[in-house]
Amino acid sequence: MGLLYFDWTMWLVVPAFVFALWAQYRVKSTFARYSRVRSAAGLTGAEVARRLLQQAEVSAQTARATGRQAAAALGAVTVEMIPGQLSDHYDPSANVLRLSEPVYGSDSVAAIGVAAHETGHAIQQATGYGGMVVRAALVPMAQFGSTLAMPLFFIGLIFSGLKIMMDVGILLYCAAVVFTIVTLPVEFNASRRALVLLRDGGYVSGEELEDVRRVLGAAAMTYVAAAAVAVFTLIRLLVLRNSRD
Ligand SMILES: [Zn+2]
Repeated sequence: MGLLYFDWTMWLVVPAFVFALWAQYRVKSTFARYSRVRSAAGLTGAEVARRLLQQAEVSAQTARATGRQAAAALGAVTVEMIPGQLSDHYDPSANVLRLSEPVYGSDSVAAIGVAAHETGHAIQQATGYGGMVVRAALVPMAQFGSTLAMPLFFIGLIFSGLKIMMDVGILLYCAAVVFTIVTLPVEFNASRRALVLLRDGGYVSGEELEDVRRVLGAAAMTYVAAAAVAVFTLIRLLVLRNSRD
């Protein structure tokens, strides 16, 4: 909807959109490149995820604070295959780690990197990692906000009697912006955990670890780009709103 309304303020968001397209292209090309590099350990993404979950469960049992609870949560996580490319994710509500076809059954460094990253999310959830808790709490508001913000804002912009709708739209959009920003530390933390788990567990050599780092770095960039698009879209809405006073 925001894209249908074209004026000079559109240029405020164009660089962020270009950045987002570049990040999407780069994550696909980086994943494709390292999908052709087989890891020496020879374990598939699914095998790596299951082993890392098991290891995390064992080490959680010995931890004092939330140990037992975290171990039980990790023990309940299942690993499944889903169709699609780069559709990998951890579903906290169902306790399921879903790996895409090219990750699930592949022993490439790209596959085990993504599998370890998603395992990182499962561990975040099980151990009550703060960012994950905040992010989960924001999901309903962010979904509501991102669906309604634009229609309401542009109704307010077009009909002078409904100016208040612009403010309502901006407030709702803020929820979506906050969500994309809170997502960043959660994603970076999951990747950091993945690299440590793979290194300490002996799943990758030093060189392979660098390859994994590149794959996860490219994936992280798409989240940075999404946050940039959201922030600049918010700036655009504020500029449009102020031009109507
Ligand atoms: Zn992630």
